[in-house]
Amino acid sequence: MSTSDCLFCKIVSGEVPAKIVRESERTVAFRDINPQAPTHVLVIPREHHPNAAALAAADPALLGEVLTEAHRVAVDEGIADSGYRLVFNTGAQAGQTIFHVHVHVLGGRDLNWPPG
Ligand code: 5GP
Ligand code: ZN
Repeated sequence: MSTSDCLFCKIVSGEVPAKIVRESERTVAFRDINPQAPTHVLVIPREHHPNAAALAAADPALLGEVLTEAHRVAVDEGIADSGYRLVFNTGAQAGQTIFHVHVHVLGGRDLNWPPG
């Protein structure tokens, strides 16, 4: 998929609206449109990379920044102490539907495992 067809690139550019909760020079964090927990935020790099492995290979420091921002979201949301889950779905069978890397920040309730 080219970046011009990518929904999350359009959120970065402002073409598609989103409830943005944090921004840094290289990342954006916004609320998931279909939340699975009281806090469900997606953190993405502004640059288009298809998944976490591709980002790790291309720019490991940026992957680190995505994780740092995910923790800051958890602090802002008041779930850093109670606990939160970070999820990178990679590939269709894992449920990845948007091929612009994003980490899900989930918390604010007891999270059962495995998901059902
Ligand atoms: P994936 O399944 O690829 O790991 O996660 C994609 C996530 O993006 C899903 O949780 C889905 O609810 C969310 N999503 C899909 N379209 C939109 C949208 O237009 N806006 C926002 N904020 N989230 C979206
Ligand atoms: Zn993209």
